[in-house]
Amino acid sequence: MNLDAAGDAAALRDAIVRKLTYDLGRSRSGARDRDWFLATALAVRDRVIDRWLDVTRATYEQGEKQVYYLSLEFLVGRLLRDSVSNLGLTETLKEALAPLGVDFDAVRLAESDAALGNGGLGRLAACFMESLASLNIPAFGYGIRYEHGLFRQILREGWQHEYPEDWLTFGNPWEFARPEIAHDIGFGGSVESVRVSDNEVRQVWHPAETVQAVAYDTPVVGWRGRHVNTLRLWSARALDPLKLEAFNFGDHVGALADRMRQEAISKVLYPSDETPAGQELRLRQEYFFTSAALQDLVRRHLRVYGDLRSLPERVAIQLNDTHPAIAIAELMRICVDLHGIPWDEAWAITQGSISYTNHTLLPEALESWAVPLMERLLPRHMQIIYLINAHHLDAVRAAHPGDVRLLASVSLIEEGHGRRVRMGHLAFVGSHKVNGVSALHSDLLKKTVFRDFHALAPDRIVNKTNGITFRRWLQQANPGLTGLLVDALGPRVLDDAEALDGLAPLAEDAGFRDRFAAVKLANKEALAALIRQQLDLRVDPHAMFDVQIKRIHEYKRQLLNILETVALYDAIRAQPHLNWVPRVKIFAGKAAASYHRAKLIIKLAHDVARVVNGDPTVRDLLKVAFLPNYNVSLAEMIVPAADLSEQISTAGMEASGTGNMKLALNGALTMGTLDGANVEIRERVGDPNIFIFGLTTEEVETRRRDGSHGAAAIQASPRLGEVLEAVESGVFSPDDRGRYRELMASIRGHDYFMVGADFDSYFEAQRRADTRWEDSAAWWRSAVLNTARVGWFSSDRTIAEYAEEIWRVPVRR
Ligand SMILES: *Cc1c(COP(=O)(O)O)cnc(C)c1O
Repeated sequence: MNLDAAGDAAALRDAIVRKLTYDLGRSRSGARDRDWFLATALAVRDRVIDRWLDVTRATYEQGEKQVYYLSLEFLVGRLLRDSVSNLGLTETLKEALAPLGVDFDAVRLAESDAALGNGGLGRLAACFMESLASLNIPAFGYGIRYEHGLFRQILREGWQHEYPEDWLTFGNPWEFARPEIAHDIGFGGSVESVRVSDNEVRQVWHPAETVQAVAYDTPVVGWRGRHVNTLRLWSARALDPLKLEAFNFGDHVGALADRMRQEAISKVLYPSDETPAGQELRLRQEYFFTSAALQDLVRRHLRVYGDLRSLPERVAIQLNDTHPAIAIAELMRICVDLHGIPWDEAWAITQGSISYTNHTLLPEALESWAVPLMERLLPRHMQIIYLINAHHLDAVRAAHPGDVRLLASVSLIEEGHGRRVRMGHLAFVGSHKVNGVSALHSDLLKKTVFRDFHALAPDRIVNKTNGITFRRWLQQANPGLTGLLVDALGPRVLDDAEALDGLAPLAEDAGFRDRFAAVKLANKEALAALIRQQLDLRVDPHAMFDVQIKRIHEYKRQLLNILETVALYDAIRAQPHLNWVPRVKIFAGKAAASYHRAKLIIKLAHDVARVVNGDPTVRDLLKVAFLPNYNVSLAEMIVPAADLSEQISTAGMEASGTGNMKLALNGALTMGTLDGANVEIRERVGDPNIFIFGLTTEEVETRRRDGSHGAAAIQASPRLGEVLEAVESGVFSPDDRGRYRELMASIRGHDYFMVGADFDSYFEAQRRADTRWEDSAAWWRSAVLNTARVGWFSSDRTIAEYAEEIWRVPVRR
């Protein structure tokens, strides 16, 4: 330790103790881990602020283009390790805390996990915020400051129960409340035509109800602390919180009920990521944060540039999925109604500023809102959407006269069983670029949901394959591997993900492979300790850790994995003395509260685990562990410890995946279908270093069209037949033998997700993985090559591509 470093540690220690004493009012002796966390976070935050203010000022002075990332979800996780690491203070902080008798890890774990998102989409937004700051791109993230993030999952006897997540109970040291930054958000009411001059009539919206959106700012510090951006989350505040008049007249309950209803907007995250919740509250949330974001950025733009016409040169607005798609109508309203800009000019401003990321092809997940609801809640926006549609359909009609099918297909309004506004169509026409999130997904967008749109605007759809921030998912989550990489490749690897390429030759170096394997073993020992503590289950860290961690969904096919587990269990029991490769099947994931079948799949995993783990004939050859309450923090424990990464969705259904990237980066081999970004992972790691199985997208499509059923697959596979019989007859559910009858019947029947059709191929691919594992040099060669060749999946690369092709902003590394 040099003197400067010692001095810095001492200064940080003083700052922490001062925060503990004067901000928290705690004595050193009485302080708990949580108090130390809060004091540490406040002290660390101080180190970010000067740079934050400087950077923000410089952006305006230099007239730099700003990126605005609008997302209903930001799955942030814990921030202490991230901030400290990006500021280069990790060692300093450990030294600062040690003489106080405080352990950095204990402090770090006392932070609550900010789960303001459901899964991949929200985590992508969080990775993007970190990469934007690391690439010195001036940016704001805009979202909602949910009081309760995603529910806490508790498993009782394998049944999921949802409990509220109270991440704000002990305060959030990262955020700055900005009560002075507030925008009025209207709902309902009526629209009035007002003549403002001889030749101009303006529409004036008189909302029936107004809620305030109040800003809470979190600084987002980039790698090496050079740049700091802002995550601005909006909280709902009733305009007249106590309704004093009503209160005085004695209607206390009524007054509070109004307030409750208004402030409910930012109370809870909708716990469903794959289907649009039909509730009015959800639409209110969407409009609430979108309108606040647009008012905020328009005000900032006008303050600096004075004129909205220059918006597209100064501002890039990215819509993360269709949740903020109402932005298109809102920006038109701001331009036309509030600033008197003619329609066509307003449209050029809107389209020039906005772009849209599509995240799903699943028809049931494409957002639409009933016209009567829109008319009631957002009457002026509904008028604007009709006008946009009229202009849009006129243009289509002019180019393709008489094509009635085409008009119906690309209309913003879905006719038929109740008229609905198609938010994806609105987002498409109002954006200058629309992107998918993997090569396959973008290709399918052109061929399926946006086929007709693609023909009308062939340059609009582009691909931006997702990425992950390597700071969090490698450097912080896996310090052991990071140390090894820095030893091998030098510190450059911390700054440039593509430098990982240099690792490839070391895959041939037996000494390096051993060190790589030793890091993995240490990570597995830590995970084994967690499994023991959480589940009271002992697992052998030398066994293959076979990991499937993600939301529970039929298309992600945890069921396929569980059925394969049963088949393997049967095979081991039949021939217990063969040379089986010992495996630990590790699952984690939440099911949407209303998704009964997903909850039943969790229960099945639990029932199978109970039988398998309790069977002495399988000894340590097979164990099943379902870890509760999957979130970013748990992912950070599991990802570095995984040997095998299960990415087994039905082909054509996973838009990209990002879990697949995290696991490959940390040296897990992928067991996957040709779906989402798996396709591109295969291209990079090479066919010998990934286990690909199953039907392709086209084959799935053909089978569905032909109305094929699971029965044929079961006929062809005695192994599958036995597994289904065992599960449906109650072997794993003696307390309720019929529990899985219907679930198994779905595989025998339509088998929409192709579990039966892919079963044999999957089982066979798993045995290939066994064979590779038995040849330890071959396994670790593949593992090293996975880490070496996935540098391209850094979200720095993704963001640089958005910057160049969609936002047209410079990247400064
Ligand atoms: C990365 C991540 C996801 C996305 O995982 P997929 O496997 O891509 O579905 C979901 N939840 C959390 C907590 C994550 O960290």
